[in-house]
Amino acid sequence: MIKFLRELPKVELHAHLNGSLCIDSIRELAENVYGKQAEEFTAMCERFITFEKGAKLNECFEKFGFVHELTSTRKGLQYATELAVRDFAKDNVMYLELRTTPKSNANMSRRDYLETVVESIKNACNQYAITVKLLPSINRSEPVEVAEETVALSLELCQNDPDIVVGIDFSGNPSQGKFSDFMPALELARKHGLKLAVHCAEIDNPTEIREMLKFGMSRCGHGTFLSSSGFAHMKDHNIPIECCLTSNVKSGTVSTVSAHHLKELMEADVPKVLCTDDCGVFDTTLSDEFILANETFGLTKSQCIGLTMEAIQHSFATPQEKLKMKMQLYSYTRRHEN
Ligand SMILES: [Zn+2]
Repeated sequence: MIKFLRELPKVELHAHLNGSLCIDSIRELAENVYGKQAEEFTAMCERFITFEKGAKLNECFEKFGFVHELTSTRKGLQYATELAVRDFAKDNVMYLELRTTPKSNANMSRRDYLETVVESIKNACNQYAITVKLLPSINRSEPVEVAEETVALSLELCQNDPDIVVGIDFSGNPSQGKFSDFMPALELARKHGLKLAVHCAEIDNPTEIREMLKFGMSRCGHGTFLSSSGFAHMKDHNIPIECCLTSNVKSGTVSTVSAHHLKELMEADVPKVLCTDDCGVFDTTLSDEFILANETFGLTKSQCIGLTMEAIQHSFATPQEKLKMKMQLYSYTRRHEN
């Protein structure tokens, strides 16, 4: 089963670029881009990756600040993007949607940041057997003006590279910022054809959850605190919930893997996909998440194939790309049967 799941052609729909580098890749990035500081970076990484039991979501967000230093130059960002794609390809991920918040600093504008990521994705796709899309992120703890700039840049980049820039991610610390303030920017993106992947119900905030469900989205990140009627809403509107088992447990929003809402979603036949969120930070891979789901909930091979099929359906890929992925999955399962 483990071999079957590791080799299964997989689809990753919820991965933040800066959190997706595993510790070996961070070391490689530090050595190749930052030279002498490698040892210092490695020591920081090891502290970063060690989660104290019962860490709170807020503490996790504080820890992200450090990783962003690694990608604060064009060279660092380019290298990090290519390494992240390589790591997913190594885990037999055939299709990946990466999310990242464009940052501006002394080295780069937000436009430079996104253009660098797009170019790096193109380079990586030429090297590895994987299709990669980009969802620029709106960070809810930043001002609305930044979100407006991100949407404007995304729409412009989408015109040049419609096969790469396909949607917008709404994320960041859920205890900061008001969703309603960002609705006009998100609506503009949606009106112009970008899909919306919204981190929703990560914490128990019934007013905001109601606002988000009313506003609508193409996919729901986490959905941890959705009620049964919230799950029914997702089912009625065919909105999948992106389930990130290890991330939710390590960041403290779900107490144990066996208490994860994936079980209820499976039983109620609510659309869902299995994702990693920040596989580097949480020291996991998409294969590990499938193995965990198999060990915890007894997911069978055919259920794991079914989850991958759901991920293909709910991806922001083109119809041709979806067909190609289905063929790849079908051919793998046929080969495995024989
Ligand atoms: Zn996330």
